[in-house]
Amino acid sequence: MERKSLKTYAINTWCPGCGNFGILNALTEALIGLMEEDDLEPHQVVLASGIGCHAKIVDYVNINSFYSLHGRVPPTISGIKLANPELTVIGHAGDGDAYGEGIEHLIFAAKRNIDLTFIVHNNRVYGLTTGQFTPTSPSGFKGRSTPQGSPEEPFNPLEIMLSAGATFVARGYSARIKHLASLIKAAVRHPGFAFIDVLQPCYTFFNTYDYYNERVYELEEAEHNPLDLEAAFSKAREWAYGPGERIPIGIFYRVQRPTYEERLLKGRVPVKMSPQGLKEVLESHL
Ligand code: SF4
Repeated sequence: MERKSLKTYAINTWCPGCGNFGILNALTEALIGLMEEDDLEPHQVVLASGIGCHAKIVDYVNINSFYSLHGRVPPTISGIKLANPELTVIGHAGDGDAYGEGIEHLIFAAKRNIDLTFIVHNNRVYGLTTGQFTPTSPSGFKGRSTPQGSPEEPFNPLEIMLSAGATFVARGYSARIKHLASLIKAAVRHPGFAFIDVLQPCYTFFNTYDYYNERVYELEEAEHNPLDLEAAFSKAREWAYGPGERIPIGIFYRVQRPTYEERLLKGRVPVKMSPQGLKEVLESHL
């Protein structure tokens, strides 16, 4: 699999310097690795996105994809997975998208432990609508909707996902592309709901590169046991999206539990339809 075969003809419209480029490169590298190492075929993968700058990522990767509604990526990809459990399904969402409009969907996807990968492009601002605060913006954030500074504290999505029952919880940084690619590969290989919050600077409305570059460090297996839920909470609290000196990235928590579809489909035969059969059903409804 060559990198260029995953490119599309779409012209990239992200701002120069946007952290989304790092996520796109990491995703591409992860997909190439999965195709070479696990014999994953492009037609076995589906990408979906929500609404926001992040959502354009599906235009730039030559893989079957679906534009969802704002905050509705988790139910969309859950439906895709339940319709065909053999697919590898990867959802992308922004922080406003996932943690604002769609937080209830995200919590229930994690609770059910559906075998999905969910990647949040967390720039901590609504970029596409020119700079409003989101649930992970720091207190005092000044933007179009909070010119005096946000009076709210951010919440910590890692703690929410750990509480909700996600069986794989990780944080990456868009400027550490190889590390992020390894997280995406591990998330796709994980049998269950795999969540990655990616620190993604918005170069135009909330440029956090210097802040992260000074603080981000990679978790080492020797110092952190991802099987230990209490240790995962403790590491997640080391930086709670507010002030802080050190920001851990890596896999915080990874355990195996039966997936939702394993429980749901136990003893049942998934209904499969040939392309011709599907065409006939669709045509009968036109
Ligand atoms: Fe990236 Fe921000 Fe520009 Fe959106 S507004 S493309 S998040 S730099």
